[in-house]
Amino acid sequence: MNIKNNIRDLACFGGAPAFEELLHVGKPNFGNREKFLGRVGNILDSLRFSNAGPMVAEFEEKVAEIIGVKHCIAISNGTIALEIAIRAMELKGEVILPSFTFIACAHSLQWQEITPVFCDIEADSHNLDPALAEKMITPRTTGIMGVHLWGRACNIDKLQEIADDNNLELFFDASHAFGNSHNGRKLGSFGRLEVFSFHATKHINTLEGGAIVTNDDKLAEKIRLMKNFGFGGYDNVIYIGTNGKMNEISAAMGLTNLEDMDRFAGINKNNYELYRKLLNGIPGLEMIQYDENEDNNYQYIVLELDEQKAGIARDKVCDILWAENVLVRRYFHPGCHNMEPYRSYFPHAGLLLKNTEAISRRVLCLPNGSAVAEDDIYKICSLIRFIIEKSREISYL
Ligand SMILES: *Cc1c(COP(=O)(O)O)cnc(C)c1O
Repeated sequence: MNIKNNIRDLACFGGAPAFEELLHVGKPNFGNREKFLGRVGNILDSLRFSNAGPMVAEFEEKVAEIIGVKHCIAISNGTIALEIAIRAMELKGEVILPSFTFIACAHSLQWQEITPVFCDIEADSHNLDPALAEKMITPRTTGIMGVHLWGRACNIDKLQEIADDNNLELFFDASHAFGNSHNGRKLGSFGRLEVFSFHATKHINTLEGGAIVTNDDKLAEKIRLMKNFGFGGYDNVIYIGTNGKMNEISAAMGLTNLEDMDRFAGINKNNYELYRKLLNGIPGLEMIQYDENEDNNYQYIVLELDEQKAGIARDKVCDILWAENVLVRRYFHPGCHNMEPYRSYFPHAGLLLKNTEAISRRVLCLPNGSAVAEDDIYKICSLIRFIIEKSREISYL
């Protein structure tokens, strides 16, 4: 196969890139500009920029109501939310988590000198394999971090059983899953607690932001102290803490975006269905599916490319699409265990992570969200079809 040297020959539209403007994965969704600016105006007028202001309080209330939990504590970002959550549960020793996830999951443990124990995923769900997780429990294990990857619930029921049997804390990174459900109940309401990210790339964003949601009163109280330096009152620190507070402008963005969350999910769903239709039948290409019986935000358009059948490697498809200004992403390549410091700490971790290794070499995420137009999707799909059809012709020569 000699495409390697001929990437430009594959361009459908002559010398110029297919898209004049860069088309990213994760362009922000944002709601009504006037409403946001109105809220920002109120913040400026009131001179309440942070520290338990009214916007954050309202945002927390709305999130708790949408998810159906007693407590939502807004945090400055998802990573700090994970760190605080882990510390509040007093985890130590080892925590089991998937390697096929964003690096913040591993870092939030290692940052506090807890050993992340990387566990393999199921090939179909891309989520933690409970049977394998159970096998990784040692006397040092204190918790399991499930991740609802692409917004699809991990095997909560089985993981809860294992956690209960072994006296472990179970919690979830629900960064991808805002608004999504499991058996009709919103993700965010399971385990001891769950964590959201409201980073700009997520379904609902607060510019930067995150939250911890839980039904546990005591834990919620502790988290509230921890995210505010441990201040129990004016001039009175009663606990070790950090600064994990969300600011008022972020909360204003969050409130504005929440008003449009169903509209964003609707756009995403239409895009998802259009991608499905247009990519259908391309050899070697599969798109992950969402369970239509559940609530979904459809934020992630995830392809798995079988390079034998497609006649071209995933990374080569990426290179070509980037050359056409379609900035697709190889989430979560190459897996946390293959990045530092974990690669040096656990050089043989990959031997136990067969699905992680294989899937991280196959996955390709396509642009979605309110910034992607239908026309863009037609163009992206015809590019992908062209690339693979051409590759198959060449490799058959
Ligand atoms: C985005 C993300 C995070 C980190 O959230 P930030 O708000 O960017 O710190 C953590 N876990 C997963 C799975 C994510 O996708």
